[in-house]
Amino acid sequence: MVRAVVVGDLRVQEIRRGDGRRSWTIVWPEGTVHPEAGRFLRRHEGSGTQRTYAYLLVDHLRWLERECLTFDAVRLSDLERYMGILGAEVAGPFGEPWRIGKRPYGQAALTTTAACLKGFYLHQAAHGVNGELGAALDRGRLPSRAVRRRAFLGHVTASMPANPLAPAGPHRRHPKMLPDRARERLLAEVTSARDRLVVTWLADGGLRIGELCGLHLVDLHLRENAACGQCRAPHVHVCHRPGNPNRAEAKTKHPWRVEDGTVVGGLVKRVSPAMVHTYFDYLTSEYPTSQAGQGMLLVQLHGPNAGQPWAPVAARRMLARAGRRAGLGVIRPHAFRHSFTSAVLDASDGNLLIARDAGGWASTAMVDEIYGHVDVHDPAFDAALRAVWGEGR
Ligand SMILES: [Zn+2]
Repeated sequence: MVRAVVVGDLRVQEIRRGDGRRSWTIVWPEGTVHPEAGRFLRRHEGSGTQRTYAYLLVDHLRWLERECLTFDAVRLSDLERYMGILGAEVAGPFGEPWRIGKRPYGQAALTTTAACLKGFYLHQAAHGVNGELGAALDRGRLPSRAVRRRAFLGHVTASMPANPLAPAGPHRRHPKMLPDRARERLLAEVTSARDRLVVTWLADGGLRIGELCGLHLVDLHLRENAACGQCRAPHVHVCHRPGNPNRAEAKTKHPWRVEDGTVVGGLVKRVSPAMVHTYFDYLTSEYPTSQAGQGMLLVQLHGPNAGQPWAPVAARRMLARAGRRAGLGVIRPHAFRHSFTSAVLDASDGNLLIARDAGGWASTAMVDEIYGHVDVHDPAFDAALRAVWGEGR
C-alpha cells in the first residue's frame, strides 16, 4: 500500500482553540491533516507533550518518505537506524539531506523521541497496522542487573516500560544516598524522643515521609502475632487516608479496612526492634494524653499547636536543621529510603523482589508481573531486614 507521493514537506500545524488553548497536529503541504499522526497526537491533547511529539514525529515522517517506507513496512531495524542517525555526531559520507543544518540529538531528546516513536507505532498496531512492529516494540529488553538496580533505585522503571529504541547509557541520575554514619550523627543532634523516632523509622523502615507522618496509632502492630493475622513479626500498616489533618498521605493506595477495631490491609511493613524502642520512648514521654493528636503518631511538641498532628513539611525542616548542625548538609527524607533499599539489596544479594517489598516500592517493573510478591516470612526476606537493622542471627 503506497500512499500517493506528496511533493513538499509535512509540517507541524498549531491550532488555536476558541477558548485560548492551543494544540498541535501534522499537516500535508496543502493543509490536510496527516490522519495517522493526527489521530496519535490527539491522544496527547492538552498536554505539553503534544507539541514536542508533533515536532519529533514530523521529522520521522519526513524521513519515512525519503526512505519510501510505509507504516506497514517499517521494521524495528529501520527505527534503530533512524535513532542512530538522530544521535550521530557526524553525518554519513553523503550526509542525510533531511538532517542538514540540524545538530545531533542529545540524550534527553533521544529518550523523548524513543518514547514518541514507540507510542506512535504501538498506536498504529492497536489500529491494526504493522502488529509485528508493535510486538517488537512492546517486548522490551531485559536489562543487565546493574542497570536494573540503578533504575530501580532511581524509581523510573515502574512508569516507563523498557523501550528498545531508548538510547543506552547513563541517562538516569544516581539516587542520592545518605552521608556516612548519618543516622548516628543525626541521632546525636536531635533533642526529642519524637525526632529520634523519625530518624530511626526513616532509617530502619525505609518509609516515605508522607507515610510516616500519615501513620495513626491504630496502624501500628508492634507486638508479635497481632490481631490482623497478616504478619507475625512487629509491623505497621501504611494506609492511604486522603483526609489526614496534617495532609500527610501515603503514596501507595493498597486497600485497607478496619475489622473489629483492627486495621487490616494497606501496605504491611516490618518494624525493627530499634523502631519499637523509639516508639515506646516517645509515647511514654512526649505523646499528649489529650485527644489533640487525633490518634496520629506524630504530633507537634511546642508552640500554640502543641499536640496537633505534625505535618510532613515540619518533619523535613527538622531533618534539614539537624543535618546542618551535624555537618552533613541538608538531609532529605528520601535519602533514607534510597540508603535503606540499597542496604537491603546488598543484604539480599541483589534480590529486587525483597528490596521492593521491604521498601514498599510500587514495582520492580519487569519482574513484578512474573514472580509476584515475597512472603514476608521468607527467611531470605527476614535475614535481609535483620542485616540492615544490624541484627545478625
Ligand atoms: Zn497488622
